[in-house]
Amino acid sequence: MRFEEFGLRPSILKAIEECGYEKATPIQEKSIPIVLMMRDMIGLAQTGTGKTASFVLPMIEVLAGGQAKARMPRSLILCPTRELAAQAEDNFVKYAKYESLNSALLVGGESVAEQTKMLERGVDVLIATPGRLLDLQERGAILMNDIQIVVIDEADRMLDMGFIPDIEKIFKLLPSMRQTL
Ligand code: AMP
Repeated sequence: MRFEEFGLRPSILKAIEECGYEKATPIQEKSIPIVLMMRDMIGLAQTGTGKTASFVLPMIEVLAGGQAKARMPRSLILCPTRELAAQAEDNFVKYAKYESLNSALLVGGESVAEQTKMLERGVDVLIATPGRLLDLQERGAILMNDIQIVVIDEADRMLDMGFIPDIEKIFKLLPSMRQTL
């Protein structure tokens, strides 16, 4: 399936074209329409099959045009490790290069002061590991009330690594009207 057929905006199609992608991979073909309909989704695919773009591309479409308020991110991608979080952010930056959307990476081992400053500026896509997210939330640096879309990336690994209590705490802070991927 060609990306034009999903109804993504031209600026996203241009970014995709610049990546050299000719057509959607199987997971993208199935997931993009579901995410665009604002439905919840569980996706399973091997690494290297374009899984990240399968949620990042339609998220950009859904979020485009809106604006984040200070300390109130509009979407959240939870990742089990800082490496995976950095990869998800790289994907977002690549595909959202023509949008006026911004992202912030909240992972352990980086300056809390810097991360707090980024949150103050307003963040459309917050990409975080659970521990650092809860830490900043407890310090009052993040309000979760405006999160419309939440993604648990590599959910199986997240559960294997013992993140269930943290994920439960985070989900209690999210609005009940939201999309979960
Ligand atoms: P992932 O499974 O998300 O780790 O993606 C693996 C690699 O596939 C990344 O380097 C992407 O840039 C690339 N990729 C994602 N979507 C496509 C596509 N539709 N066609 C070709 N490559 C893609």
